[in-house]
Amino acid sequence: MSVIYKPTGMAREYSPYALNLYIGCSHHCKYCYAPHTLQRAEENYFGKPSPRKDVLKYLEKDLQKNVYYEQILLSFIGDVYCDNSDDSQTTRTALELLSAYHAPVAVLSKGGKKMLRDLDVFKTFEDRIAAGTTLTFHDETKSRAWEPYASSPKERLETLKILHENGIKTFASFEPTIEPKESLKLIERTLEENSVDHYKIGKINHYKDADKWQDWRRYLIDCIALLRPAGKEVYYKFCLRRLAPDVPLTKEEKTPDEYIVRA
Ligand code: SF4
Repeated sequence: MSVIYKPTGMAREYSPYALNLYIGCSHHCKYCYAPHTLQRAEENYFGKPSPRKDVLKYLEKDLQKNVYYEQILLSFIGDVYCDNSDDSQTTRTALELLSAYHAPVAVLSKGGKKMLRDLDVFKTFEDRIAAGTTLTFHDETKSRAWEPYASSPKERLETLKILHENGIKTFASFEPTIEPKESLKLIERTLEENSVDHYKIGKINHYKDADKWQDWRRYLIDCIALLRPAGKEVYYKFCLRRLAPDVPLTKEEKTPDEYIVRA
């Protein structure tokens, strides 16, 4: 059984390869699409997940059999630094294996400072790793309402700063954007702190009639106005671009794999 796989559909915009170590998540985000994707009842998804059976054994077999030149994202399903049954020991061992086989990796987490426990392993990848977080709300109360058990916005911003100061390439995912004003405030914070190298910008999807809530064209224009002068790497996701086809974007801003990590 192969545990490193090629995502399809909207997930493919994020990464050419992915690896899910735990099936389930403790963060309990209101907009989480994973139970639907897995066709699981919410009560069988949200909670304290255990590592997938023999996932490290299968990972090593994959790495022995194949050479990966393009990034493997940890993870689409769950969060490798949520509150899990082995305190993310499987995450650490998986990263050690991936590093030993020179595989390029991107780690996306809302676990905040828990990520920093593996900073020493991140460093062994040299330039073959990017570590990032989803930034959703600047306002603590709103963040708690939508992502009740994830780390606070303050902690996520501090984590990005520490990762960046330690020479790790950082990225921030603005998917979902729920309230553009909140996301724009977060972009401003990361620019002031110079803590993010690469931005992925999208919007909320698959949640009630979210498309109708906001002026997404205005949001795209405002993001461009902030990020282009700063000279940052930015990718605008198709779900956002398609709602503002008249807004001119550069080739790089529309190319999903432009800024991925490579071997
Ligand atoms: S962190 Fe991701 S997988 Fe976990 S609950 Fe939130 S959206 Fe779902």
